[in-house]
Amino acid sequence: MPRVAFIGLGKMGHGMAGRYLDAGFEVAVWNRSKPKADDLLERGAHWATSPEDAAIDADAVVTMVADDEASQRVWLGTDGAAANMKAGTLAIECSTVSHRHALEMSREFNSRGLIYIDCPVTGLPEAAAAGKLTLLVGADPADLEKAQPYLAPIGSTIRHFGAVGSGTVFKLINNLMGAVQIASLAEGVAIAEQAGLDMNLVAEALSTGAVASPQVIRHSKRMVARDFSGATFTSGLRHKDAAYAVALAETLLPGVPVSRAALEAYERAKAHAPDGDEGQMIEIVSRPK
Ligand code: NAP
Repeated sequence: MPRVAFIGLGKMGHGMAGRYLDAGFEVAVWNRSKPKADDLLERGAHWATSPEDAAIDADAVVTMVADDEASQRVWLGTDGAAANMKAGTLAIECSTVSHRHALEMSREFNSRGLIYIDCPVTGLPEAAAAGKLTLLVGADPADLEKAQPYLAPIGSTIRHFGAVGSGTVFKLINNLMGAVQIASLAEGVAIAEQAGLDMNLVAEALSTGAVASPQVIRHSKRMVARDFSGATFTSGLRHKDAAYAVALAETLLPGVPVSRAALEAYERAKAHAPDGDEGQMIEIVSRPK
C-alpha cells in the first residue's frame, strides 16, 4: 500500500487527506492544531507527532498549508518533514507559495536527494473533498510521472506548465486576476447601489452577462445580499496570493498598475476581516468615507 504523509488539514487539506484514505493509501497526518484531524483518525489515518514523524517511511509527503512561512516550518523547521524523508521521496507542495519560495525549496530538496514539485490547486474545499481539484504542476516530466499515483486521488485535471516553479507562476497569475475581478465587481455593485438600481436585477444581469466569469457568478448575489456565510477563501489568503503575484510580476513586467490596485484593495480587505470571505470586499468599497 502506498504511504502518504499529509500535512495541513485546513479547509482544503482536510478533504484532500480524506481522498487518500478513500483511495486505500496508508496515511499519516499532521496539523498544527490536532482537533482538525479527529475524524480522519476515525477513518483510519495515523496521527503523527510532527511533520518529521509523519514523513518516516512515506513514499510521498504532501503539504497544504497557508503560505511561505507555514511551508518553511513544516518542511524545514526543527521537526520538519525533510529531515526524515528517504532519498528519492516526493515532496508535493500543494500550498500556494511564492515563486521564489518554490524555487528555493526545490534547490534545497535536490541538495538532499529529494524531489520537490510545486502543485498548487484551483477549486474550492468542496472540490478538494471530492477529488476534483485542478492541479497546476511544475515538475520535471520524469518526476511528474513518478508523482502521478499521488496526484490521481486529489485531482481530476492535471495541467503541467513546465519545470519546477511554473505551476506556481500560473497559479499566482490566476489568483491575481481573481483579485482584480472581485475588487472590480465590488466597485460595480457599490456604484449600482449608489445609483439606486434594482439590486436583484443587477445581480442577475451581472451573473449572466458578458462579465460573468466564475468569480463574478460566485460573488455577485452574495455581495448584493451581504451574505458571507460559509467563507471558503479568505481575504487574508487572497491578499497573500496577490502579494506573491505582484512580487513575481515586478521581476518580469514592472509596473502592473491594475494588479497593484487590486493588491491595495485586498490590503484593506485583509485589515477589515482577514478571516472573512474575500467577497467582503464590498463592505470596504461601500463604507462611507
Ligand atoms: P486554511 O483553512 O486557513 O488552512 C491553513 C492550513 O495551514 C491549516 O492547516 C493551518 O494550521 C496551517 N498553517 C498556517 N500557518 C501555519 C504555520 N505557521 N505552521 C504550520 N501550519 C500552519 O486555508 P485553506 O483554505 O485550506 O488554504 C490552504 C492553502 O490552499 C493556501 O495556500 C491557499 O492559498 C490554498 N488554496 C485555498 C483554496 C480555498 O478555496 N480555500 C483554493 C485553492 C488554494 P491550523 O489548522 O493549525 O491553523
